[in-house]
Amino acid sequence: MSNIKFNSITADYLDFNQVITQPVNTVGFAHHNCMVDVLRVDLIHPIISGNKWFKLQYYLHEATQYNARIIATFGGAWSNHIVAAAFACHLLQIPCKGFIRGEKPAVLSHTLLAAQSYGMELCYISREAYKNKEAIQQQHPAYYWINEGGYGVEGAHGAESILHLASHIEKYTHIVAATGTGTMLAGIIRAAHAGQQVIGISAMKGNMELEQQVKKLLTGQEAAEFTIQHAYHFGGYGKHPALLIDYIKQCWQQYQLPLDIVYTGKAFYAMEQMIQSHTIPQGSNVLFIHSGGLQGNLSLPTGTLPFS
Ligand SMILES: *Cc1c(COP(=O)(O)O)cnc(C)c1O
Repeated sequence: MSNIKFNSITADYLDFNQVITQPVNTVGFAHHNCMVDVLRVDLIHPIISGNKWFKLQYYLHEATQYNARIIATFGGAWSNHIVAAAFACHLLQIPCKGFIRGEKPAVLSHTLLAAQSYGMELCYISREAYKNKEAIQQQHPAYYWINEGGYGVEGAHGAESILHLASHIEKYTHIVAATGTGTMLAGIIRAAHAGQQVIGISAMKGNMELEQQVKKLLTGQEAAEFTIQHAYHFGGYGKHPALLIDYIKQCWQQYQLPLDIVYTGKAFYAMEQMIQSHTIPQGSNVLFIHSGGLQGNLSLPTGTLPFS
């Protein structure tokens, strides 16, 4: 993996050699004659685990080109993007500010504490004001602004390199990934091969703009096709009913695969359902992108999951 050239000096701090393709071919999937490999992008780093750094790489590069004095971005109290941005800016030694949705909580989340420990200055914005992010950006025109979740063409471009971590990418018929803003999915679609089906599993309830949001990040020349599933949100963004927790425990026992409650747990569940219902047809060769986010599980009471 180390032959891949990444467009940011912060890449030196991440361990791409850790990324493996983990087969999870147990009886369940084999019964449907499907092969499933998991691309463990979560293993690049314990904090910037998964897709967030990939989406940030071109923004960071641009910020250094512009000699940005301050990098600023947006996110919620549990945003993996905020932590990844804080850590990356810490490595680049560029001061950064995180504009956080909502009032300052009495007890800071693990996410916010981690971001702060990397030197990010947190600015709390009322939910009302947060809706108009452009107004906030206009108040600070000198900052180098990165959209919430790294959404944008540069973010998608950066996410293309996630697929390059897998060897023999052409052998897969389907690529399944959890989806929030759609930035990573767009990158995967851009990098996927002709005939491959890219399936995004939305972590949000009823985010019907997602298809359009993804398309905005594509050129229209992509070889692969994509669909987005909206039925696997488990009650909504961040919601994690007992069924989901039990499923995540089961995946750990069965495959030694650690999943998170916000994104990858829901997406893996969706993939399994789609294989069982033959929405992903028999004989398919599936690559599941483990996009990281395991630190999100820290919001659960200790001991809820058998791994951390
Ligand atoms: C942020 C995140 C996603 C969603 O990525 P988008 O590019 O916003 O769609 C998926 N999985 C994990 C683990 C994440 O942290």
